[in-house]
Amino acid sequence: MRNKLVAGNWKMHGNLKENGALLEALISGMPKSGNNTRYAVCAPFPYLASVQAALRNTCINWGAQNISQYDKGAYTGEVSADMLIDFGCTYVIVGHSERRMLFGESSQVVAEKYAAAQRAELIPILCVGETLEQRDSDITEQVIDEQLKAVITLTGVESLKKAVIAYEPVWAIGTGKTATPQQAQDIHQFIRKGIASQNQEVAECLSILYGGSVKANNAAELFEMPDIDGGLIGGASLIAEDFVAICSAIKS
Ligand code: PEP
Repeated sequence: MRNKLVAGNWKMHGNLKENGALLEALISGMPKSGNNTRYAVCAPFPYLASVQAALRNTCINWGAQNISQYDKGAYTGEVSADMLIDFGCTYVIVGHSERRMLFGESSQVVAEKYAAAQRAELIPILCVGETLEQRDSDITEQVIDEQLKAVITLTGVESLKKAVIAYEPVWAIGTGKTATPQQAQDIHQFIRKGIASQNQEVAECLSILYGGSVKANNAAELFEMPDIDGGLIGGASLIAEDFVAICSAIKS
């Protein structure tokens, strides 16, 4: 049975006071995580210590939103995988479309970040997805293939046994326009089939999350689809009641 995961991406939001209140509400409201269900929040770097202190011994895991591709050295402003391990992170998001588009991260750099995360035994949440223009030009599958290929070429298909993929159509992120469950399912199935053509066992075990304007009122229908194994949640992960409702919509 595949693992299910709902992960919150706080992006560059919050402060100590707000995060404290959010985490307190999550701890008291979160459904019990079943054997194959996981919940997580991905916080900005400066708050990882306080997130660790709050969530230690709870059913909620935590992680970061970015990582350096380098293990250590003269890389001013970067944060390494081992540093994230020091703060108890389980996950790290790599290749979020905001990193790709606003900070110029190529698929090759994303693949190197994914590899750096795995060297430290962090679980990378690898984001892939097409822009609206690419969808309209009918090249969604090509775009996703290229994004995945960079990772598989560098680390091998077996590396996906210790990773999570998040399909996030760029046109659905933060826009309030969610992919329909069928649109999302089609791409999730495409991803799984592509990986199955290289390694059936890896494809069957791989958790593929959907991200893009998942809300409390649309999570259940998305999570019901056979190839959707949870969600990566932006805006709604900042509202405790909504994030708890989304986590409760996942069936183990
Ligand atoms: C995201 O940032 O990964 C995301 C899916 O954002 P939102 O849920 O706000 O669309």
